[in-house]
Amino acid sequence: MLEIDLELYRTAFYTLLISSILALVVVVHRLRDVDWPGAVIRLFHLYFIIGALGWVRLAFTHSQVRMEDLSGSLLTYFLSTYILCLALIDRVRGWKVAGMLGVLHVLLAAFTLTLAEASTRLGVVSVYAIMIYLPLALVEFRRAFHERNFGHAVIGAALTLVVTGGAAQVALLAKHDLPGAFQIALMASATGYLLLGIGFLATVLLSKHQQLTKLALRDPLTNLLNRRGLEQALYSMSGLAGRQGKPMSAIALDIDHFKRINDTYGHDGGDQVLQSLSDALRNTIRGSDVCCRLGGEEFVIILPLTGLSEAALLAERLRTTIEGLVVRFGASSIGCTASFGLACQEGPFNLDSLLKDADNTLYAAKSAGRNRVAWPNALHS
Ligand code: GH3
Ligand code: MG
Ligand code: MG
Repeated sequence: MLEIDLELYRTAFYTLLISSILALVVVVHRLRDVDWPGAVIRLFHLYFIIGALGWVRLAFTHSQVRMEDLSGSLLTYFLSTYILCLALIDRVRGWKVAGMLGVLHVLLAAFTLTLAEASTRLGVVSVYAIMIYLPLALVEFRRAFHERNFGHAVIGAALTLVVTGGAAQVALLAKHDLPGAFQIALMASATGYLLLGIGFLATVLLSKHQQLTKLALRDPLTNLLNRRGLEQALYSMSGLAGRQGKPMSAIALDIDHFKRINDTYGHDGGDQVLQSLSDALRNTIRGSDVCCRLGGEEFVIILPLTGLSEAALLAERLRTTIEGLVVRFGASSIGCTASFGLACQEGPFNLDSLLKDADNTLYAAKSAGRNRVAWPNALHS
């Protein structure tokens, strides 16, 4: 029969836990330079330091300590949970709630220490864990959804684990199984701690990744995709158009005499026109169309699964919209027009050649007098 050495398991448990938390302490310390709400990083750093100290203390006293003597661990638990609350609610509620929560935690800690029975103490801590961690978990799941950041969902899962542990502890205490409840508390808080650390790191890194991706793929002035962003957005779409044997159209657009706008109203006036025109484009195209600022005052809209005549209708709608646009700039109202070039591709998708074709027809629209939509050579309307 296989004999399990419990002492070895316990050593492995604490080694894994403490080394992981120490690694978290070091990594989070390095994260202080990351562009992220500074107070939140500092609070998490403090949370992991207190956690590491608490678990080291417990690891060295585990065999000798009697459950009745766990006052130190209780205080560490209340303190680190309070800091976790601050870290997680910081961006939502501000410091008023933080102060109230602090007072509440001090009172609760003092009250718990007056309880003589270990099982009553653990019962209070379990109910407290359920009441505190459940709303925090819901906040984190909500953030995961709204910010599209899976790291928050991992934090939410970690907090849910502690809540589930709390419920199991209450059930075991009701059956007078104090050692069982204590073991669940140990397991749930250790696993929750590590999962929370992983979730926090994932949140910061994924958010940073989103931020850098946005910087790399979007134009900061108009928030439209840039050329690289367009390529990425079309990467999967081009396969779709090819598979279904449907056409893919492009509308190239260039503001007429934009230099004059800059000369008359200054660069800022020109920028305001670019922003207003971009908003108008965004509001007019369909969700499946992809709009991109190629540079300067040149834009392109790619219309998947769309033929030339449909593209022409949209281009004409855009033309009249832009013609009617009144851009407020200080005391002035700036008007502008734009020229449009159409292109269409069937079969295998080639962005470069589609853009080149659209640019050629755009050139034809400019030559023909501007403020108009031009069709490809063979199809002149
Ligand atoms: P056309 O009708 O032939 O298109 O004439 P145009 O004056 O619009 O074209 P041109 O290419 O000669 O001038 C484009 C101008 O756009 C020149 C450049 O200074 C200006 N421009 C490019 N990027 C920006 C920008 O980000 N902001 C502003 N305000 N102006 C820009
Ligand atoms: Mg122009
Ligand atoms: Mg131009």
